[in-house]
Amino acid sequence: MDKVTQERISKLHPSVRVEMAKIIDSCNQALQGKAQVRITQGLRTIEEQNDLYAIGRSKKGKKVTNAKGGESIHNYGFAVDICLIIDGKTASWDTAKDWDNDQIADWMECVKIFALHGWVWGGSWIRFKDMPHFEKKNLTWRQLAKLAKDTSGYVKYETK
Ligand SMILES: [Zn+2]
Repeated sequence: MDKVTQERISKLHPSVRVEMAKIIDSCNQALQGKAQVRITQGLRTIEEQNDLYAIGRSKKGKKVTNAKGGESIHNYGFAVDICLIIDGKTASWDTAKDWDNDQIADWMECVKIFALHGWVWGGSWIRFKDMPHFEKKNLTWRQLAKLAKDTSGYVKYETK
């Protein structure tokens, strides 16, 4: 796995770091080399989330999110966005391409592996599809808030 991905995993919630490293390793193995997974975003601070929320509202541009600071699973370190890096250089968000020629789209191979570990794909949502996004399943907001407080050694974690 690449360095960027490693760094982003190290900032996820401590309880999912080992799991996420396993998921990424499994995906990379399954994809057999041409396409490899990169995490483009993991933890997002409350401040970063508010900045995103402002786009298309108080700031210029097209809306990118409906979540304010604290309302995204990213703010708790339980979500990742990914892309595929092709031949070590080109980023791709193509969910249909089968680079390793095993009759299953590479992206969907990853979706399956994430699901095995209890991570839900944003592309499976009915109302608002978020294709690059995966998040840990079955965490209620109450559980998130509790976990957010239970983060010894997790310096960058924000609970506001
Ligand atoms: Zn996301």
